[in-house]
Amino acid sequence: MKLLEHKVALITGASRGIGEAIAIKFAEQGATIAFTYLSSEERAKTLEEKLAGYGVKAKGYKSDAGDYKAAEQLANDVMKEMGTIDICVNNAGISRDNLLLRLTPEQWDEVMQANLKSVYNLTRQVIKPMMKARSGSIINLSSIVGVKGNPGQSCYAASKAGIIGFTKSIAQEIGSRNIRVNAIAPGFIETDMTHYLKDGGDKWFEKIPMHRFGKVEEVANVALFLASGLSTYVTGQVISVCGGMNT
Ligand code: NAP
Repeated sequence: MKLLEHKVALITGASRGIGEAIAIKFAEQGATIAFTYLSSEERAKTLEEKLAGYGVKAKGYKSDAGDYKAAEQLANDVMKEMGTIDICVNNAGISRDNLLLRLTPEQWDEVMQANLKSVYNLTRQVIKPMMKARSGSIINLSSIVGVKGNPGQSCYAASKAGIIGFTKSIAQEIGSRNIRVNAIAPGFIETDMTHYLKDGGDKWFEKIPMHRFGKVEEVANVALFLASGLSTYVTGQVISVCGGMNT
């Protein structure tokens, strides 16, 4: 028996990086997959085909995670086409790194909307079917930067710290309904988002006890644990996947 058989998972921002790895991992374990993207149409089509190769139903939706109305429409569409939503992974995110004196109000708003408001937008929708089913797992992608801070990333860090406060609050609000809400705090993971750090090589490795960047599959494995019946008494937690950076 696969870990996510008969479950429907909605994953935001799965056309690339960590979201894509989570979609593949969940499909391998038998879940029906609904995923979103913002502009990567081609990659989304390719992923749809790849996921179908695991024998599961899978569909990509173009939907801006930062837009409340779009999140409402998305949840309605997924409910109509997939029947329910058992697992929601709020993964979509962006970074706009700048020292505070150069950080513009537009950059601040853009990051807050895509990273933090997005989590509110979709969580508010998916708890409705989950409350009805008296079961559900919501997984929010925070960051080690939201736990520790990082120079040049004040607004990204604030958005990711906000996700932690949100996660812990909602876990307390709806724990009695058997809906679990947890956050993952990755360290430096090899994706497009961290591509520019690679030139810094050893400088970054010195900050990481395991002396390497993480792989998307290593984050996806923790998401699988949180999505599945392996974690039925785990809620309100922030799990670091950071090669020991948070020690
Ligand atoms: P990535 O490679 O840059 O991919 C970002 C994904 O999010 C893409 O699929 C992108 O879609 C989608 N996206 C961006 N804005 C969106 C929006 N407004 N609406 C819908 N989709 C949107 O990022 P990643 O490195 O995989 O990161 C995934 C999550 O993990 C993010 O929340 C990030 O902050 C967090 N995280 C990453 C790291 C790391 O080291 N990589 C560390 C800590 C936390 P398109 O392809 O269509 O643009």
